[in-house]
Amino acid sequence: MKLIDGKALSNTIKEEIAAEVKRLSTNKKRPPHLAAVLVGEDPASAVYVRNKVTSCEKIGFESTLIKKRETTTEEELLEIVRELNEDKDVDGFIVQLPLPKHINEHKITLAIDPAKDVDGFHPTNFGKMAQGLPAYLPATPFGIMTMLDRYDIDVQGKNCVVLGRSNIVGTPISILLSRKATPGNATVTLCHSRTQNLEDYTRKADIIVIALGIPNYLKADMVKDGVVIIDVGINRIEAPERKSGYKLVGDADFEDLSEKCSFITPVPGGVGPMTVTSLLSNTLQAYKDHFLTNS
Ligand code: NAD
Repeated sequence: MKLIDGKALSNTIKEEIAAEVKRLSTNKKRPPHLAAVLVGEDPASAVYVRNKVTSCEKIGFESTLIKKRETTTEEELLEIVRELNEDKDVDGFIVQLPLPKHINEHKITLAIDPAKDVDGFHPTNFGKMAQGLPAYLPATPFGIMTMLDRYDIDVQGKNCVVLGRSNIVGTPISILLSRKATPGNATVTLCHSRTQNLEDYTRKADIIVIALGIPNYLKADMVKDGVVIIDVGINRIEAPERKSGYKLVGDADFEDLSEKCSFITPVPGGVGPMTVTSLLSNTLQAYKDHFLTNS
């Protein structure tokens, strides 16, 4: 078994981006600028946003964190989105999900200018991605494709099984894997909560991408020898032996699978860090597409 080290790869890509930022700013241009909007007190969201902002600082991006209280109205948030859309000093921005229940996430996503949608959630970017046109790809699927590419994992013609059909992971990664591109050209099966006899699919899979949110769901007896496993799940489970009282595990049972698979991503340290890096790559791209080409 070979580990796909998302943390190390993410650091390598960050160094590449940092070198590019340095090169671009020698011409007296401002650096790329990512803004993040955080509404409410969700502790996991606060950690994710902090990681994104800290990563920006490390690679020489400018970053802005807009923190709003839980009671922020939908109209107030739409106003913030409009201001960020107009702000010429901001290349890309994200509104951290999930949002408080009284705010319609779909409405907020639709209000973001697709040219600044570095999370790749806007239907315009999603549609372009599906048609194989240049687009800001959703960060987690983008990170997975980068891992497959950099680890030279052959995808073409392979049986890929994606577990989970969310708009941010399962559905877009199934599209990217099946696109006529490199990496891509795979034969993809998308499984979900209504799939019958799911193991019939996983046992035939050369590559499995699992994004369910169910701790240690995928076991060795559900896969064939030599399978590649990309584990997207991040689940907090009790761990009394730890000082914190909990630990993070994926959707795949790492210990059980490690003897049987050819490659596997660990949790933590696999897909998670790549998601943040992909957001930075998208921001750099937005900076080049709009700021550099217009100045
Ligand atoms: P989600 O929670 O929106 O949806 C889960 C999907 O799993 C649904 O499509 C559902 O049909 C399917 N499902 C649920 N139970 C199932 C079952 N028993 N059998 C088959 N299918 C089943 O999914 P999400 O937002 O993609 O998140 C999935 C996991 O990935 C979560 O643990 C989340 O925290 C994690 N995640 C990680 C990253 C990262 O950067 N590493 C990014 C996004 C999400």
